[in-house]
Amino acid sequence: MSTPYDVLVVGGRVAGASTAMLLARAGARVALVERSAYGSDTVSTHGLMRAGVLQLSRWGLLDTLTAAGTPPIRETTFHYSDREDQRVTIRAKGGVDALYAPRRQVLDRILVDAAADAGADVRHRTAVTMVLRDDSGRVTGAHVQDRAGRTADLHARLTIGADGIRSVVASAVDAPVVLRGESRSAILYRYYAGLRTTGYEWAYAPGAGAGFLPTNEELTCVFVATTPVRMRALRRAGAEEAFVTLLTETGLAERVFSAEPTGRLHGWAGAAGFMRQSVGPGWALVGDAGYYKDPITTHGMTDGLRDAELLTDAILQGPEAVALTQYQATRDRLSRRFFDATESVASYAWSMDEVRLLLREVSSAMRDEVEHLRSLAIPYSVL
Ligand SMILES: Cc1cc2nc3c(=O)[nH]c(=O)nc-3n(C[C@H](O)[C@H](O)[C@H](O)COP(=O)(O)OP(=O)(O)OC[C@H]3O[C@@H](n4cnc5c(N)ncnc54)[C@H](O)[C@@H]3O)c2cc1C
Repeated sequence: MSTPYDVLVVGGRVAGASTAMLLARAGARVALVERSAYGSDTVSTHGLMRAGVLQLSRWGLLDTLTAAGTPPIRETTFHYSDREDQRVTIRAKGGVDALYAPRRQVLDRILVDAAADAGADVRHRTAVTMVLRDDSGRVTGAHVQDRAGRTADLHARLTIGADGIRSVVASAVDAPVVLRGESRSAILYRYYAGLRTTGYEWAYAPGAGAGFLPTNEELTCVFVATTPVRMRALRRAGAEEAFVTLLTETGLAERVFSAEPTGRLHGWAGAAGFMRQSVGPGWALVGDAGYYKDPITTHGMTDGLRDAELLTDAILQGPEAVALTQYQATRDRLSRRFFDATESVASYAWSMDEVRLLLREVSSAMRDEVEHLRSLAIPYSVL
């Protein structure tokens, strides 16, 4: 049997790489396995909210993010089809004076590098194919296979599934879904050069949403969203036509047409939100593996960074069963209002007055989350 790790983390993006980094910084012996290649892209519109930026700042990674050319966002503009725009300046508070929308090749790589720098054994192009258990049923690690076909059993006291919404770890341990949503957004997005923005820009019209997120390489991510049923109907005329129709409805089309498209349209068909039981004997789930909500409120990465710290905090406090249960309780408490508001926004069944109220609820839930993170005793900023 190979030397056991303290923790095996499955999935090396926002949630997994941060969890591996934090645990390794705290002195744990950590393995991090990721199926895809180092520095690869994944589906995302990139927007980090204040809590996510706060985490990167506390972990000493914000300078690396800005040095990679990620533009600071100092203002958010809300466009509504029935009234004047609303502009909100990002206030400097608690080490955060701007928001950022990093490309995933940039952000995920920074987190993976930080995990490796902290001493984690990072293995890309390596997939977990099976979870290992002892005679009592407790998870004791995982069987992995790399792209060359080499296999190994990685033994660990705790196995953490950070492997996204179709988590192999969650299904291997039969983690029950404790809350299931119904709403889902279908999304199309593309990058544009030469698009002038005021920062994050969100646009709403009856049954549709859209937005601009300035990202690396002086590009802006432009997205449109609606229900899957409507998107399918619009796409019968073609994805480009659907994109243009939704941009036109939300009032953003002219500005997008004056910019230069870069690359293809990316699509997301939609998936219903859920919260899974995320702890059990020898295992835990973090990020989308344990809690997924519709991307329309652009909070999945921020939650992944938050929950990496909540889980690490719990693991370091032990004993395991009590601490992990506490992790899940805190995650759920901080997430529930946000989850419910996201469900309503992603229903697209609102009036314009109603969506404004929902977005206010989203903001208020975000403030609670930031306050909780600022109150955590262990900043993990020391390498
Ligand atoms: C269209 C769209 C737009 C979005 N826009 C935003 C946004 O603007 N802002 C925001 O905050 N969030 C956004 N999100 C949500 C965000 O992308 C996710 O919440 C976030 O990526 C979750 O991070 P994660 O680390 O939990 O999981 P993931 O990013 O899904 O990473 C999981 C990793 O696990 C790996 N993996 C899976 N199975 C295995 C296995 N068996 N063995 C080894 N590795 C495995 C995968 O290769 C993957 O790299 C968006 C999502 C979508 C779909």
